Amino acid sequence: MRDVFLDLSLIEKQAKEKESENLAFAKFLRRFPSKTLDALVERLNARIEPLIDCKACANCCKRLRAVALETELPALANAKGVSVEAFKQTFVQPYKEGFYFKSSPCPMLRADNRCEIYDARPACCRTFPNLVGEHFKYRFKSVMEKYPICPIAFHVVEALKTELDFPKNSDI
Ligand code: SF4
Ligand code: SF4
Repeated sequence: MRDVFLDLSLIEKQAKEKESENLAFAKFLRRFPSKTLDALVERLNARIEPLIDCKACANCCKRLRAVALETELPALANAKGVSVEAFKQTFVQPYKEGFYFKSSPCPMLRADNRCEIYDARPACCRTFPNLVGEHFKYRFKSVMEKYPICPIAFHVVEALKTELDFPKNSDI
C-alpha cells in the first residue's frame, strides 16, 4: 500500500481534520455485525502492521504512559537489573490494580528508540495498539485515542473506511 506513511505530524494533523468524519464513522460502524467487522480489522491489521517500522516511530513509548501489573514487576525489575522495590520507587507509581510508568517518554526507552527491557515489556506494550479482538465497533472510542499518535491505528481505520465504502468527509 503506497499510502501507508509514517509522518507523525501529518497523521496528527489529519486526525484533527477528520474529527467529525470519525464521529460519523463510529455511528456508521454500528450497522455491521461485530464478527464481520472484527475479521475485517484483523485482515487489515495483518496487511498494514508489517509496513510500519515501530523502531522508526516509538511514538507510543514517547507520548503515552504504559501500565504494568504487579505480577509483571519482577520481570521488569530483573530486565533493568534492579530490585522490585527499587523499580517501584524509581520508575512507576500505583494506578488502580497496577502501576503507571512515572514519565513520558517512557524511562525504558533508549535514545535509539529501542526498549531497554523489550523482552520483559508489559502486556500493555506487547498488545498496543490493540486493534484486533472482539467488538471493534464497541472499542472504537479507545481506538480513536490511539489514532492520532499511532500510524498502525490511523492506517487501519482509514483502510477500514475504504473497505466499507464509507463516504469520507461526510456527516451521515
Ligand atoms: S505501535 Fe504505533 S505508535 Fe507504537 S511504535 Fe508502532 S506504529 Fe508507532
Ligand atoms: S516499556 Fe518499553 S515498549 Fe513499553 S512504553 Fe516503555 S519503552 Fe515502550
